[in-house]
Amino acid sequence: MTIQNYINGNFQNPISNAWIDNYNPSNGEIYGQIPNSSTKDVEQAYQSAKSAFKSWSQTSLEERSRVLIRISELLEDQLDRFAKAESKDNGKPVALAKTVDIPRAASNFRFFGNAITQFASESHESVGHNAMNYTLRQPIGVVGCISPWNLPLYLFTWKIAPALAAGNCVVAKPSEITPMTAYLLGDICNEAGLPKGVLNIVHGLGSTTGQAIVEHPDIKAISFTGGTATGAHIARVAAPMFKKLSLELGGKNPNIIFADCDYDDMLNTTVRSSFANQGQICLCGSRIFVEATIYDKFKIDFVERVKRLKVGHPSDSDTDIGALVSQPHLEKVKDYIRIAQEEDGKVLCGGQEVNLKNFENGYYLEPTVIEVPTDECRVNQEEIFGPVVTLMPFHTEEEVLQMANKVKYGLSATLWTNDLKRTMRMSSQLQAGIVWVNTWMMRDLRTPFGGVKASGVGREGGFEALRFFTEPKNVCIKY
Ligand code: NDP
Repeated sequence: MTIQNYINGNFQNPISNAWIDNYNPSNGEIYGQIPNSSTKDVEQAYQSAKSAFKSWSQTSLEERSRVLIRISELLEDQLDRFAKAESKDNGKPVALAKTVDIPRAASNFRFFGNAITQFASESHESVGHNAMNYTLRQPIGVVGCISPWNLPLYLFTWKIAPALAAGNCVVAKPSEITPMTAYLLGDICNEAGLPKGVLNIVHGLGSTTGQAIVEHPDIKAISFTGGTATGAHIARVAAPMFKKLSLELGGKNPNIIFADCDYDDMLNTTVRSSFANQGQICLCGSRIFVEATIYDKFKIDFVERVKRLKVGHPSDSDTDIGALVSQPHLEKVKDYIRIAQEEDGKVLCGGQEVNLKNFENGYYLEPTVIEVPTDECRVNQEEIFGPVVTLMPFHTEEEVLQMANKVKYGLSATLWTNDLKRTMRMSSQLQAGIVWVNTWMMRDLRTPFGGVKASGVGREGGFEALRFFTEPKNVCIKY
């Protein structure tokens, strides 16, 4: 299947007619071609967005809202088609795409379609000076949205929906590894009546197509989700042009388990927070710290549960763990398992590639639990982004807090305890943008989402996203 760029409401080949192979992770086969777009394609997308901006930015909130909610409805109508496409492109179980990825993509459009009608600005009366200030929140213009491969349509739309709702026009690039659902979205946007040029989707490599978006002098804001190294590079390119930047980057999130927690609930959720989406979620709790008094019991129970997870073809309804996204990523994750052992880590289960009958060239890996001797080893410090978690005991609150914070990342943290005072103490001291207590990945789209330290700058979600995609302008009237 050949994917095309979506520019000015039309589907078109890349100007240079250069293409990239698209792989199916479940069998390792090439199943399509995607545009290897160049600066010229990005320029065309920019010009189309620029032409559409005047009208779209003046379109009433009711009309913008109507179009976004219509996109959401059409996505829901095509849930099956999109879920299968996402699974084939990414390797994730169809069941997961059907219950998480695509419903959430639809929710993103619905949420921001509604949120924009409630988005308000402040006014400040300068008492004693006979003056009134009010703040306009104006769309920025043409903005760039760049998203990763792990939750392809979910994260793509998490940026596009608020950008469009706020009245911007967009040049967007999904990951070249998982471009399919972004491509399919174009048709839905046309059907929903999104005016031509308001959204433009350009496919290609990060280092060329993505770079061209970031370098474009008139694309005034960049919303990026991806790796920390790429985020640092983008910041370096964008800073001298004074672009607005939202960077959602990597994570190495602690999952801290106290003996007083609700044990069964914790165990069920910890299996999920460790291995959902093959562990390829920036929010996965990849460092598990367990209070020493229940450490041995937890270790036995957890490993027993992990061994029961079924690694299988993404289309099988009983598959828990599908394929990793690509061969290079599989190699990277396997490398970390080797590094862990070199650093005296003990593999408690998993660690091996899985040869699925009839799909021997797919990128399958057993869910892996590694007991580590110290929190300072590389597998405990570096983001692996695969089905690998580390396990370590702790004795005191102070000790675990110190270990939890002693990484360069600060995206999310999970805490399992029924002690209210401890919850309050720890959640205020954990260095993270999101702290979940007795749950994981429970998302309310109104809340601020993002990380601290090397996990990024800025927040997405709710009005935070609408603030990012608008410029505040103060108007002061003397009377
Ligand atoms: P990458 O940083 O490799 O890529 C992310 C996106 O940026 C892709 O579309 C990529 O294109 C593009 N890109 C790469 N280089 C450039 C460049 N020079 N200029 C502009 N764009 C570029 O991340 P991955 O796709 O590998 O995603 C995994 C990472 O994403 C993990 O570190 C994970 O933690 C992080 N992530 C963070 C989340 C958060 O909310 N904090 C959520 C989900 C993931 P291409 O793929 O074509 O190279």
